[in-house]
Amino acid sequence: MLARLGGDEFVVVVHDVNLEQEVEPLAKTIAHALSQPYKVSGYELHTSPSMGISFYPANGENADTLMRNADAAMYHVKSQGRNNYQFFTSEMNHVAIERLELENSLHSALERNEMFLNYQPQIDIKTGNVVGMEALMRWMHPTRGLVMPDQFIPIAEETGLILPLGEWALRTACQQFRSWQKAGLTHIKLMAVNISVLQLQRGDLPALVASVLSETRMSAENLELEITESAAMKNPQQTIEVLNTLSKMGVRLAIDDFGTGHSSLNYLKLFPIHCLKLDGSFVRGIESDSNDAAICDASITLAHNLGLDVVAEGVETARQYEYLKEHKCGKIQGYFFSKALSPDDAGAFATLHSFAR
Ligand code: C2E
Ligand code: MG
Ligand code: MG
Repeated sequence: MLARLGGDEFVVVVHDVNLEQEVEPLAKTIAHALSQPYKVSGYELHTSPSMGISFYPANGENADTLMRNADAAMYHVKSQGRNNYQFFTSEMNHVAIERLELENSLHSALERNEMFLNYQPQIDIKTGNVVGMEALMRWMHPTRGLVMPDQFIPIAEETGLILPLGEWALRTACQQFRSWQKAGLTHIKLMAVNISVLQLQRGDLPALVASVLSETRMSAENLELEITESAAMKNPQQTIEVLNTLSKMGVRLAIDDFGTGHSSLNYLKLFPIHCLKLDGSFVRGIESDSNDAAICDASITLAHNLGLDVVAEGVETARQYEYLKEHKCGKIQGYFFSKALSPDDAGAFATLHSFAR
């Protein structure tokens, strides 16, 4: 029996199977079928299914439990990103409960003032000056302590909480930028803020940006919005429209985690963007993997030929830095210079790195 639960969720019920080996071929067939590219209005779209599998009666004696456990297994697949299917195990319940607890407390995190931003300096590779900051969200959980974005952003996106959180981050980052300006840190030219796919899909992003800019009296050209490659490609036509509006307002736009999603070069040309952020996974491999070095090199060249800036993320070592400098990467961000810092520390860091070397 095949049923659609709603949205992009489906359930397959299989009778008379007892062993994982008996279900595995079916899971593989489904994964293979759904992983084929789809042609939609002349564009090739890729999707990747995530499947969780639970057995009656071992994993539940009623439909509710079976479904919940299959769901937990499916989340496991999603969080691991690679395999298409997973069989439920009891540890997954633990993960699911943790997740539910986090989700519950995330609902009230903003009103309880538990969220804050850290800022990671972006350095001009030629001069060594700090020229920008990326605002990165942090959550001080009352009992768990510091929670990092990879643990709560996915939950925030699934629950829609990323909308208020994202708006808060945008406003807070712009206010911070203005305080740095007022404090004389005028060589910080950019404040980069991450925008989630949900914010991009909501028609009101340009209006929100406009109102935050006017509220904080920040000029649009000092704001850079980062959109991940996979978010931008989720609905490229809509992305183009939203980005065009933002670009006309004077806001700068960057493609984040470049190289990790399925990006069509054709879209890259159509998106009114100003900057590519080369994903840290390639930068990390520069010294050890000639393919990674080649990807960095080619991405920098591509960006330059398209008239875009390049920021390399995740630069951790002097050799990565030298390589990127040699290959004319414009800006870098990474632990080699600094991790994300509190507002005060970031301001102090920018003051130190404000002289031409
Ligand atoms: P991102 O936008 O690609 O941010 C870069 C991530 O790499 C940050 O992790 C940063 O701390 C980390 N990083 C920087 N330099 C290095 C390095 O040299 N080595 C290593 N290993 N890592 C480095 P963080 O702060 O944990 O953020 C993770 C992701 O969470 C971000 O990736 C972004 O996608 C998302 N995120 C963070 N804040 C926000 C936000 O306000 N809104 C949205 N929508 N997403 C956010
Ligand atoms: Mg980013
Ligand atoms: Mg990134």
